Amino acid sequence: MYGDIFSQIKSSLTMADVVEHYGFEVKRGVMLCPFHSDSHPSLKVYPGSRGWHCFVCDAGGSVIDFVAKLFHLNARQAAIRLDNDFRLGLSTEKPDRREVDRWVREQREKQAVLDAYRAEYDAKCREAYLIRSMQKPPPESPLWGEYAALMGRLDYLDNYYFIQNHWR
Ligand SMILES: [Zn+2]
Repeated sequence: MYGDIFSQIKSSLTMADVVEHYGFEVKRGVMLCPFHSDSHPSLKVYPGSRGWHCFVCDAGGSVIDFVAKLFHLNARQAAIRLDNDFRLGLSTEKPDRREVDRWVREQREKQAVLDAYRAEYDAKCREAYLIRSMQKPPPESPLWGEYAALMGRLDYLDNYYFIQNHWR
């Protein structure tokens, strides 16, 4: 069923129709690529149903692939979105807001986890640096116990980096 909608969308819409609808400007068959930071238009828009291809980031495909990538949708959601946005009337299905919202939420959660991890890693780097830059007190000093504890902490931090850096 969806295969049919896919081919109908591809034959009803040109790539230029689609990108212009979503606010992109095509000049002499090329436009700025939204999928990498493009300062010089490198996304080629092919005539008719031949789709698109970026010569820098190598992304490309059909109108459906473009909309899927642009709005972070799967192919089925992208087809429904195009069908609705261009009022093609191929499907009675409406774009699934919940599916899109869930995707956006998942991306935000992943980003938050990554940010927290980076912040923790940076904090540990700073801590290890501070411990290393401390002066070693003489063994009879009252500070010795604290220093020894910090050395233990440093072992832990070094081990932490080792695990983090070998984990990926
Ligand atoms: Zn690109």
